[in-house]
Amino acid sequence: MHLSPIYGVMGNPIAHSKSPLIHAHFAQQIGLSINYAKILVPLDDFAHGLRSFINKNGLGANVTTPFKEQAASLCDDLSEFASLAGAVNTLSIKENKIYGDNTDGPGLICDLKYRHKINLKDKKILIIGAGGAARGIIGALLSEYPQSVTIVNRTLSKAHDLCAVFNDLAQHKQASLACLSFEQLNNPDQKYTYDLIINASSSSLHGDLPKLPVNLFHADMSVYDLMYSSDLTSFLQFCREHNVHKLYDGLGMLVEQAALSFEIWLGVKPDTAEIYKLLR
Ligand code: NDP
Repeated sequence: MHLSPIYGVMGNPIAHSKSPLIHAHFAQQIGLSINYAKILVPLDDFAHGLRSFINKNGLGANVTTPFKEQAASLCDDLSEFASLAGAVNTLSIKENKIYGDNTDGPGLICDLKYRHKINLKDKKILIIGAGGAARGIIGALLSEYPQSVTIVNRTLSKAHDLCAVFNDLAQHKQASLACLSFEQLNNPDQKYTYDLIINASSSSLHGDLPKLPVNLFHADMSVYDLMYSSDLTSFLQFCREHNVHKLYDGLGMLVEQAALSFEIWLGVKPDTAEIYKLLR
C-alpha cells in the first residue's frame, strides 16, 4: 500500500504549537497541501514515537522540548550545527536513514539580520541561559564573527560546558567566548558592556526575571527574548523600563527556523513576511 508523505512536530506538550499553521502557509505558497500534524510523544518513549512516524511514511519532523537531544542521538547523520549543539530540531528521513539538522540558530540569525537589521560582526553579545535553546544558537552566533560571546547562567557548570563545546569554533571565528556567574555580572566594581543581550533562559515563561544589574542597559543596545508572546515578555518589559528601545521577541526566530526546515524537506525557501504578520 502506498502511503502519502507526512510531516509533523514532535514534542510534549505540543497543543500550543504554531508549527502546523506556519507549514500549511508555506505549502500554500508553492501550491502544495502538506499533511503536517502535532504529534504528542510520551515523555519516556521518543524512539518509539519516531519509529511509528517513519513507518507511516513520515518524511520530515520538527522536534521540540524536551526531545531535541534524544533526537540527535537517534540520527544516522548530523549537520555541523546539530552535531555541535548535540540537539536536533529538524529530522529528515531518506531511504530509511535519519538526518538531523538544527535550524534554531540559523533561524535566529535570519530574524536578527534580515528582519531587525542587526549586524553581529564585531558585536559584544551576552547570552542568558545555558539550556537547549542556548546550545542551539551559539554556533550560529559565532559564525557571524562577533567580537565576543559571554554566557551567564544560574548553574555555572552548564555555561562552562557550553564554552568547552564551542571553544574551537570561537577560536576559528576569532571571537572571544567566556562565561560568567550572575554574581560576577552583578559585581558593582565591574562594568560590563554589551551590544546585544539574548535571553535564552526560560525565565519569561514564568514571568520571572534573570538577576541583571541595571547598569547593563543602555539606549544603543538591542535585546532579544527567545520567548514570544502577544504582549512584551517580562524580560523585554524590564529592558524597556531601563531605557532600551530595540526590543525583539522570538516569534521571528520561530517562523525563520520553520522556513529553513521547510527548505530542507521540500527544496524551496518560503517567504516568511506574511505569516509573521499574521501571527504577530
Ligand atoms: P531549558 O529548560 O533547556 O533551559 C532553561 C534555561 O533557563 C537554563 O539555563 C536555566 O538555568 C535558565 N533559567 C530558568 N529560569 C531562570 C530564571 N528565573 N533566571 C535565570 N535563568 C533561568 O529551556 P530551553 O533552553 O529549551 O528554552 C529556553 C527558552 O527559549 C524558552 O522560553 C523557550 O520557549 C525559548 N525557545 C524559543 C524558540 C523560538 O523559536 N523562538 C526555540 C527554542 C526555545 P539553570 O541551568 O541554572 O537551571
